[in-house]
Amino acid sequence: MQTRTDLIEDLMGRFPHIPPEAVIKEDLLRGGMAFDDSALTDNENGDVKPKSYFIFSFDHRTLPELGTAALRRPPEEIVLTGGPYGLRRTVVSVRVNPDSPYRVKDDGSGALQLFLDDRPIAYVGLPPMPEYYRHRLANGKSVMEVAPTIQWGYLVYLTVFRVCQYFGAKEECQYCDINHNWRQHKAAGRPYTGVKPIDEVLEAMEIIDRYDTAGASRAYTLTGGSVTSRVDGLAEADFYGRYAKAIEERFPGRWIGKVVAQALPKDDVQRFHDYGIRIYHPNYEVWDKRLFELYCPGKERYVGREEWHRRILDSAEIFGPRNVIPNFVAGVEMAAPFGFATVDEAIDSTAEGLQYFMSRGITPRFTTWCPEPTTPLGRTNPQGAPLEYHIRLLEVYRATMEANRLSSPPGYGPPGAGNAVFSVSSFMDSLPVEGRLAATPA
Ligand code: SF4
Repeated sequence: MQTRTDLIEDLMGRFPHIPPEAVIKEDLLRGGMAFDDSALTDNENGDVKPKSYFIFSFDHRTLPELGTAALRRPPEEIVLTGGPYGLRRTVVSVRVNPDSPYRVKDDGSGALQLFLDDRPIAYVGLPPMPEYYRHRLANGKSVMEVAPTIQWGYLVYLTVFRVCQYFGAKEECQYCDINHNWRQHKAAGRPYTGVKPIDEVLEAMEIIDRYDTAGASRAYTLTGGSVTSRVDGLAEADFYGRYAKAIEERFPGRWIGKVVAQALPKDDVQRFHDYGIRIYHPNYEVWDKRLFELYCPGKERYVGREEWHRRILDSAEIFGPRNVIPNFVAGVEMAAPFGFATVDEAIDSTAEGLQYFMSRGITPRFTTWCPEPTTPLGRTNPQGAPLEYHIRLLEVYRATMEANRLSSPPGYGPPGAGNAVFSVSSFMDSLPVEGRLAATPA
């Protein structure tokens, strides 16, 4: 029987131009990792930065099923180095799966290692508790709750609206657990602010700015659920835009401002830009027309796929094509029962979408699908997509980027294995180091 070790080594052998770091990272992101209790954090009272649950759960079990990891949070991210594959520094977002063949535990010498099939494959570094997490807002809320940071501190992740107005089976995207995640944190009695007040966000940003003495914090993302009617009396562009306006007025140019929102009409997109946002993520989720209609029923009904794409192109006239970076959820293309049955078909479809945007100067990016158990697609596909799909996607992504003479998108930190900090897919790990001539994949 093929072990998971066999699987990754087979892929490393067949795709030698993909860094081994990316192979392991993609496998960890699609299938999760387990933690011995000794590798968990002491929440906000310890020396390790805990998982903040910054938007979705990104876990393979619900909170009540996580055991100790529900009481003592796992770390937000881990960093892998060394081991039999000689891994360069690789930052990986933590997705918990108690049944994963990957386990983080003490190797007996007091060092934490990542074990695969019971064999140590990399040393594990944990993110230190940032000084700014040790300070609270005047009303007692934690900075981790109001303005968590990810990507090893690079990005302040401001989910200012914790639920989505696409609600229920006929509207929610079929891979998204934002609304469930809200419910489970509330049920567990955790603080989880539905709509974050602007003054709280500013106060938390002030604390980050003051105590980020290493200068790691470089960008913020404003995001949350879609607004189909109004929140606080405001439609989507003004609801999210007012946070950017307040941040830019208080801290002009301190961070690169980004927003993840729907593909909105041009006037609304212009308002985002006027509010001070510099990077726009109107996520197209999945390229294939049939799958978009099935997986994103709310977006299809309210906007429609063709209009969504047209608005993405229109927004490039306002932000500039380099600064329009729509995301897709890599792997849902292969989710049963509606997805593609073969990796070839799934890659062909995804590549068509990449070429559509990249030939127009727009660089999409992707997050690796985590099949959360409370979502329709997660329920029917607990193993996620085949690892080969994810590896071949890295290959076609880089090739399409190079064919269109594009380079890594702005606002993601440095590219290249050993340098990248983007933690929820390895597209940045598998791009060439900045300034180095792009090599053509063999
Ligand atoms: S639009 Fe879809 S992916 Fe985005 S928060 Fe709503 S349900 Fe989730």
